[in-house]
Amino acid sequence: MRNRNILWLLVFLLAGGTLWAEETRIPAKGYAVFSKEGSFQPYTFTRHAVGEEDILLDLLYCGICHTDLHFVRGDWGEEPYPMVPGHEMVGKVVRVGKKVKKFQVGDYAAVGCMVNSCGHCGMCQRGEEQYCETPGGRILSYAVPDTFHGNEITCGGYANNMVVSEKFAVKVPQDAPMEKIGPLMCAGITTYSPLKFTRVKKGDKVGVAGFGGLGHMAVQYAVAFGAEVTVFDVNESKRQDALAMGATKFVNVRNPEECQGLEHTFRVILSTIPAKYDPIFYVNMLQTDGELVIVGLPATENTPMLNTAALVILGRRHVCGSQIGGIAESQEMMDFSIKHGIYPHVEVIPVWKIDEAFEHLQNGTAKYRYVIDLKTLDQTPPKK
Ligand code: NDP
Ligand code: ZN
Repeated sequence: MRNRNILWLLVFLLAGGTLWAEETRIPAKGYAVFSKEGSFQPYTFTRHAVGEEDILLDLLYCGICHTDLHFVRGDWGEEPYPMVPGHEMVGKVVRVGKKVKKFQVGDYAAVGCMVNSCGHCGMCQRGEEQYCETPGGRILSYAVPDTFHGNEITCGGYANNMVVSEKFAVKVPQDAPMEKIGPLMCAGITTYSPLKFTRVKKGDKVGVAGFGGLGHMAVQYAVAFGAEVTVFDVNESKRQDALAMGATKFVNVRNPEECQGLEHTFRVILSTIPAKYDPIFYVNMLQTDGELVIVGLPATENTPMLNTAALVILGRRHVCGSQIGGIAESQEMMDFSIKHGIYPHVEVIPVWKIDEAFEHLQNGTAKYRYVIDLKTLDQTPPKK
């Protein structure tokens, strides 16, 4: 009899515990795609509970990055669906875990491509969480298993809220232009970081290849660091904008005449190109010891190949890749951007225009970052 009572007590406690855990999951609503050919549809789901070191954000805006397009369309391989993309988020803190120190309810915070990492490997210790060395240790904001939460697939910022470890949220002053803040967390940091680690300084000649969401941020940072900037793009309509943002020259790479006479010119070139191209074209324009930093990530079938014989013949010029940036550097970039008024050029859209924005991004008619106004999740789309 006594054993049976203990058994019932255990069953009761376990059931109660499960119910409690489920209750504390956070209901969320957003927009998702259900296959790589599919369009965006309203989607409800739940997020993991707010842990002791987590914050809950009511999201205000989320940028649309070309990476979202690659992920949604399966450009890099099989992806999990339904997928809620979005890694350029800004919102208001509405709940904090009891060990949270950096944020209070009412603060504003921005979240980028990562929501967690192992915290103890060499790279995490150096504040370069984007290069976390523990397998499965770095958790991207969407479409990956969250090893800290039972391997559930992460959902990004095309949604009304976000739960994130406070360590992976960046502080945003309350008077910042919120609609322009999200893209800093990807387009901003991905271009700021390489310009910093290549030590771009006054008088350096810098090239920026691909003048879209990332490229137009790169130009603004490089100009702020005092560099003389040349932009390379395929799209003639961007010439005036590049010059207006401080570039001294625009080269349309589809026009061979414009590409002549640039050998040995640049100390740093940053390539944000999301399509097939020949990296040697840019290596050829570097000074000796110059650096080509590649951040663009074309679809697997379009990944450029590097001609290593040409690299040897061209002499000592460096080629490396780079991913976003660490959290400390993201905070530095946020503060720098706000101080110097460096922001993305954005077009704010309602949620029901995400498919249209993706088409523009695909066709080269986006200028320069679409940002989703997440208040529109509560509105009814106009009848077509
Ligand atoms: P955008 O589409 O906004 O910008 C890309 C730009 O490159 C467009 O202006 C495009 O022109 C131009 N372009 C296309 N082909 C060429 C070419 N052959 N030569 C020169 N310019 C070209 O994309 P994003 O800036 O949002 O992203 C760029 C890439 O960076 C993507 O592959 C993305 O996945 C990657 N990325 C990488 C990150 C990292 O951590 N390394 C982080 C974030 C993004 P047009 O529009 O006319 O085609
Ligand atoms: Zn991005």
